[in-house]
Amino acid sequence: MKIDLNLKPESKRGSVPDDESNLGFSKIFTDHMFTAEFKDKKWQNAQIKPFGMLSLHPAANVLHYSQEIFEGMKAFRQEKTDGVSFFRPEKNAKRMVASAKRMDMTPFPEEDFLSALQNLVSIDKQWTPKSQGTSLYIRPTLIGTEGMLGLKSSKEYLFYVILTPVGPYFPEGFNPIKIYVEEKYIRAVEGGVGEAKTGGNYSASLLAFRKAIELGYNQVLWLDAIEHKYVEEVGTMNQFFVIDDIIYTAPLDGTILKGVTRDSVITLAKDNGYKIKEEKLTIEKITETIKSGSLTEAFGAGTAASIAPVGELFYKNEKYIINDFKVGEISTKLYELLTGIQYGRIEDPYGWNVSVQ
Ligand SMILES: *Cc1c(COP(=O)(O)O)cnc(C)c1O
Repeated sequence: MKIDLNLKPESKRGSVPDDESNLGFSKIFTDHMFTAEFKDKKWQNAQIKPFGMLSLHPAANVLHYSQEIFEGMKAFRQEKTDGVSFFRPEKNAKRMVASAKRMDMTPFPEEDFLSALQNLVSIDKQWTPKSQGTSLYIRPTLIGTEGMLGLKSSKEYLFYVILTPVGPYFPEGFNPIKIYVEEKYIRAVEGGVGEAKTGGNYSASLLAFRKAIELGYNQVLWLDAIEHKYVEEVGTMNQFFVIDDIIYTAPLDGTILKGVTRDSVITLAKDNGYKIKEEKLTIEKITETIKSGSLTEAFGAGTAASIAPVGELFYKNEKYIINDFKVGEISTKLYELLTGIQYGRIEDPYGWNVSVQ
């Protein structure tokens, strides 16, 4: 696909602020964005242009019937070479196609996805921060743009990619967070859209999320929709528990987002001598093993937060403190391996890093 360049004058471009300690999560965006349109049955008008507002038909499908999907991925400044690398971008390209299929949308071609990202990030590379825990967050987005109020799939789409330099997702950094186990509301049900990275999954979660925040918790842990019994995942992360030295995470049964970080953690755990099982766990088993002391660690895994140790669960009006609210050994090791590869501190035996040209 040919990409037209309509760039900001060199003299008007910005870069990541000198003080990287206040980046937060997506407070600022870079100079440029990638956009492409699907119209008249074909992808066209691919361009990189100055970051700016979108103009949409007020009846656009996305505004009424929510045909919207997105991806979340990062590019990391390499500590040894000062270059910038994507982390497993082909996984996001594939997942975005899968999400599009589930939402009956026309995907942006998988084979053009990486070149769109390569071109964009290479132009805005100077926005990639350098300090520990920072990265350039990449948000590819696909929306239905046809202006038509009859309920049906859009015939027109906009695919765009925006970039934002980010610091740690949780202000806690690599320190334990607190999780609220949600009993009433649910995230996803078999046959639903839990596996798709689609906006509606997140808008449906916001009420429970705000309630958790007001009670002093960072995120919500979702239970299964039928029995409210099995532990599924956290708002933006897949969840892991260590019980009797075995690492557990929920299997991918259709309600769980197939996290790239989840997959990376499973590989790293296996290759570094840990026992790991993809198995359903009940919330009762979790609370009982926290009480008995055999559950020694819990952590979430996702692109935004990388690995986030969990120090407390709140369930049915009771607080369950994990590992005296300290970061565990296995969480630390996996965090070091994962971020070590991402920042080029240690060798990448898997070919997960893809350099920005
Ligand atoms: C994005 C996301 C994850 C994590 O996926 P990664 O590919 O590791 O970033 C986990 N759960 C939910 C619900 C998500 O939206």
